[in-house]
Amino acid sequence: MVNKSQADWIHLDIMDGVFVPNISFGFPVIDSVKKAAKKPLDVHLMIIDPDRYLNRFYEAGAFMLTVQYEACTHLHRTVSEIRKLGMKAGVALNPHTPVSLLKNILPYIDMVLIMTVNPGFGGQSFIPESYNKISELRSMIDKGGFNILIEVDGGIDTKNAAKLIKTGVNVLVAGNSVFSSKDPAATIQQLKQLS
Ligand code: ZN
Repeated sequence: MVNKSQADWIHLDIMDGVFVPNISFGFPVIDSVKKAAKKPLDVHLMIIDPDRYLNRFYEAGAFMLTVQYEACTHLHRTVSEIRKLGMKAGVALNPHTPVSLLKNILPYIDMVLIMTVNPGFGGQSFIPESYNKISELRSMIDKGGFNILIEVDGGIDTKNAAKLIKTGVNVLVAGNSVFSSKDPAATIQQLKQLS
């Protein structure tokens, strides 16, 4: 269904049961997804010590690898290594982490992922304060003249998507709203038409 749909990327949430309370899946599943996928894999690591696995995610077929700001003590080193391996580098912020902390890393990254729920589980409600974070980040990116995408993840649906795009979002991650809808491909199409 996703291969045939208008979705641009396939977003994979990797959870380790330590950084977030939940465990999702690991390399055997990602390798299987890669075999079946006809769209690029956008991999979001909600794990501690992501540096240990960067090369393995490259081998697994990630084109974009996003790490959590809160899980990286040496973020510049981590994002530089992601790019050196041949992937695009993303940084994700939990709802409590201010976008101002990204000031000195913006020249080194390709995407910022604003978590619009607390990471760890699907099906949570969107946190409305996210709009302020997105517009603040959008002006930081535009003022600096950076070529950086803004992605949102968590509680995204056909009701809030238009406002998010207007606020400056480029990439919508939709899980529950797509997969629990009666016609997932039609829901993807509706989201795409808003952009
Ligand atoms: Zn995600």
